[in-house]
Amino acid sequence: MKLYAPSTIKEIKNQYNFRLSKSLGQNFLTDKHIIDRIIEGSRIGPEDLVIEIGPGIGVLTAEAAENAKRVVAVEIDNGLIPILEDTLKEYDNITILNQDVLKTDFSTIVSAYKTEGKTKIIGNLPYYITTPILMKLLEERVPADSITVMMQKEVADRIKADPGNKNYGALSVAVQYYCRVSQIAEVPKEVFFPPPKVDSAVLRMDIREERPVVLQDETLFFTCIRAGFGQRRKTLLNSLTGAAGLSKDAVREVLQTAGIDSGRRVETLNLDEFATLANSMADYKS
Ligand code: SAM
Repeated sequence: MKLYAPSTIKEIKNQYNFRLSKSLGQNFLTDKHIIDRIIEGSRIGPEDLVIEIGPGIGVLTAEAAENAKRVVAVEIDNGLIPILEDTLKEYDNITILNQDVLKTDFSTIVSAYKTEGKTKIIGNLPYYITTPILMKLLEERVPADSITVMMQKEVADRIKADPGNKNYGALSVAVQYYCRVSQIAEVPKEVFFPPPKVDSAVLRMDIREERPVVLQDETLFFTCIRAGFGQRRKTLLNSLTGAAGLSKDAVREVLQTAGIDSGRRVETLNLDEFATLANSMADYKS
């Protein structure tokens, strides 16, 4: 049985009286080529633990189970649980958890199911919570090696954007601080059932073992990013005034010590410059 075929999805819906939920972002993949690209792009090895976010009816889960030691899939919709137990019954290396991924404790999953290999997170994400899922994984320092996920193309464009690009923003700097980002595929809406409103892309985010910049105070680094991009049309001098309780004169001094022109705009700063700025702010405050 081709799990990914639209006819199979329709059969399963009838058999289980299952209704697809728009609000849970249920757009199922129907293209084997894209499924293979995600699995190959995530570089799963035979000893690896794979954690999948939102398995749906199990198209990616089955492929991951063929390639990994163990797969743990987190699905919020309890209507999909009996379906997954059926579609994946031939595999003895899959565990399905009926949970909200935003409340999932990934460290506990990793310690409970740890294998000899690496830990890879994969998924065709529910698009209504793409950013919260990624920020939760990164801010909680998920003990995994990489995250390979499909998301709306617009968010992928923001994540991988470089300084000066119109899509460059707080999300680009935050994700690039934690990960090295590569795009695996661009995906048209037609390969989903039902098709979503937007095109998609698959990114692999390799989680860095070491941070790319040395920071005295990580909180100040994120304060600069948030304050700067919160008012991206303003000069750095103006957008940073008030951040971390600093007056305009203090910000002027901080920028001068960092060697950053106070008339520049935040979208021109690279990771190194954000770090220099945050460290200069930390020195000023100490
Ligand atoms: N992996 C399947 C595929 O590619 O065909 C389904 C992907 S579908 C885009 C997103 C999946 O995430 C759905 O199965 C949906 O029920 C599930 N989901 C939505 N919100 C979730 C949440 N908060 N926690 C866990 N799963 C969630």
